[in-house]
Amino acid sequence: MNPNFLQTPIAYLKGVGPNRADALKAELGIETFRDLLHLFPNRYLDRTSYYKINQLQPSGADVQVVGKIVHIKTVEQKRGKRLVATFMDETGQMDLVWFRGHKWIKENLKLNEPYVVFGRVNKYGSSYSMPHPEMETLQKHQQGLKMVMQPIYPSTEKLSNKGITNRVIGKMIQQLFLECQGKFPESLSPTILEELKLISKSSALFNIHFPKNQELLAKAQFRLKFEELFFVQLRLISQNLQRKQKIKGMPFEAVGEKFTEFFENHLPFDLTKAQKRVIKEIRNDLGSNAQMNRLLQGDVGSGKTIVALMCMLLAIDNGFQACLMAPTEILATQHYNGLKELLENMDVKIALLTGSTKKSERTLLHNQLENGNLNILVGTHAVLEDKVQFKNLGLAIVDEQHRFGVAQRSKLWKKGSPNSSEDGGAIPPHILVMTATPIPRTLAMSLYGDLDISVIDELPPGRKPIKTVHRFDSNRLKVFGFIKDEIKKGRQIYIVYPLIQESEALDYKDLMDGYESIVRDFPQPEYQISIVHGKMKPADKDYEMERFVKGETQIMIATTVIEVGVNVPNASVMIIESAERFGLSQLHQLRGRVGRGAEQSFCILMTGHKLSEDSKTRLQTMVRTNDGFEIAEVDLKLRGPGDLMGTQQSGMLNLKIADIVKDNQILKTARYHAIQLLKDDPRLEKAENAPILNAYSKMMANKTIWNYIS
Ligand code: ADP
Ligand code: MG
Repeated sequence: MNPNFLQTPIAYLKGVGPNRADALKAELGIETFRDLLHLFPNRYLDRTSYYKINQLQPSGADVQVVGKIVHIKTVEQKRGKRLVATFMDETGQMDLVWFRGHKWIKENLKLNEPYVVFGRVNKYGSSYSMPHPEMETLQKHQQGLKMVMQPIYPSTEKLSNKGITNRVIGKMIQQLFLECQGKFPESLSPTILEELKLISKSSALFNIHFPKNQELLAKAQFRLKFEELFFVQLRLISQNLQRKQKIKGMPFEAVGEKFTEFFENHLPFDLTKAQKRVIKEIRNDLGSNAQMNRLLQGDVGSGKTIVALMCMLLAIDNGFQACLMAPTEILATQHYNGLKELLENMDVKIALLTGSTKKSERTLLHNQLENGNLNILVGTHAVLEDKVQFKNLGLAIVDEQHRFGVAQRSKLWKKGSPNSSEDGGAIPPHILVMTATPIPRTLAMSLYGDLDISVIDELPPGRKPIKTVHRFDSNRLKVFGFIKDEIKKGRQIYIVYPLIQESEALDYKDLMDGYESIVRDFPQPEYQISIVHGKMKPADKDYEMERFVKGETQIMIATTVIEVGVNVPNASVMIIESAERFGLSQLHQLRGRVGRGAEQSFCILMTGHKLSEDSKTRLQTMVRTNDGFEIAEVDLKLRGPGDLMGTQQSGMLNLKIADIVKDNQILKTARYHAIQLLKDDPRLEKAENAPILNAYSKMMANKTIWNYIS
């Protein structure tokens, strides 16, 4: 085969031509032979089995039935005629129906001769009918080269209107196979083919388009899914390796004075095993000569903050500055206060920078950052502004990363220290991204292949698991009674309303109505209520928040602004209104606001009676488990990877044949083999890996394949 054969524009394929080529491009994005070859069927019609008429189901599937026509009649209708044939086998009878082409059919159909009919059946009353069946005599059917599994290709109405039907697409693909005699270059090594017992590339492509039976189809699917995931992984992993070789990081060699002092004298509790492990992993990165780019995953309340602090102390011990960014002002402030308290008796300079930092203060801050008097800067996006320059930023930590885009992460890179590299180039700071949104591991390693991952998979000891219940709105009074009891015990309560941007006005009304009814049922002065929502000025928000944190108010009514991070250990009840409108990960985040103190905490999910199946599953999952990773798995199954944060930037959405959720196991295998390969032959120089190198280079050169994966 000519090596450029697959690059040939599709218009040159016999039977296509410029008009059809335009339509194929516009509707399916097919431009070259390769694109057509990789247009895989969505499903297959199984013509390997035959149904009896009494086995038919109103399932809408296409089925194949053997029988005889015993009677044909023309039925007059308001809108034209229809031809109806009575079709029988030994178990019963059904109708075959035609709305067009009567004459030809009537003249050619033979009564009482065995036929095989194939098509979709509809049920009318107790009897079945099959409109416009495909049919041939049993005799011919048995002689013919049986295509037992019929592929159904993705298509659009426009394509069919232009005559590019499923059959025509099938014909085009046949033509393509004909022109190259069905031979396609192998893209995997003999070792991998052997170890996984994969069929060859040519055989896989043939059997995905023209499967002889279920078994060969399954083998073809497995091979092609594996290959697709393997190359994605190969690319992610080799990029990560390259980055480590190329991008120097500032070496944090010393575990110095501050780290040790804090560890020995100021640590308020024993670290969990998971925290210790994660700190070790991070220290290994920081001590190597490569820049760290690490994702720290840990469920809400797993204690990421202390890990962040200890890493920042490492930076300071090595003569660098550190910064910690949070997505909201409330969170940044809370981090700042928390860290300041932990550092109370230590000589570490820490400051807060947010949108509402006053100008005079800001100028002072800028100076201190530039001359190195400030060790730790905590802040919001304000930290990213160009005016903010560090003397030598060595470590940047981003909390709750899904709120920050990739672009913002890369801005941080540029804040490294300009003079510290031997060759004069800027060395980027080490970057630690912390997230409390658990992402199933397999997905994480695909989405964030360019990041290393650490997981805190253990909660600090002594936590009582939060009790979660689902209550209908009609039981509201009982729920209010429960709230009053908890308040009597000295606890505090969150009540959260959904706020979804598109319908903000409406949601806002819900919130205010809710607020009024609560104020009615919880009258002052016995009860004090705070309210926080997105339309308030930051200063007012902070004031209300502050009152709740200090315990001056017992009830906090809020929209999801409190979703992340906020820490009020005395709050023991989280009530989520219209809980069916929240996604699982959001519900889990919200629930994580309680259960932070020593008392038993509760989460009450309020809904109306009308619930979709998905909503029910979400609510049941929340009631059943507190495990963020388990919840994330359910979420992934319910929503698919498309809606998960981060997937938009990943090729995982554009996979042609593999499915990141269903093919999880294959993904793991593919990743394993990609790692093994790069360990054994980092530059793919070995002769036996030539097919891989070849395919890989082609993919890298072909932007249309990769631009959506990067
Ligand atoms: P998150 O991972 O959600 O950011 P935090 O860092 O806010 O969690 O920690 C949650 C709470 O648990 C804090 O009050 C913190 O002081 C406490 N905590 C963290 N680590 C431990 C530990 N090892 N033992 C006891 N309490 C801990
Ligand atoms: Mg946190």
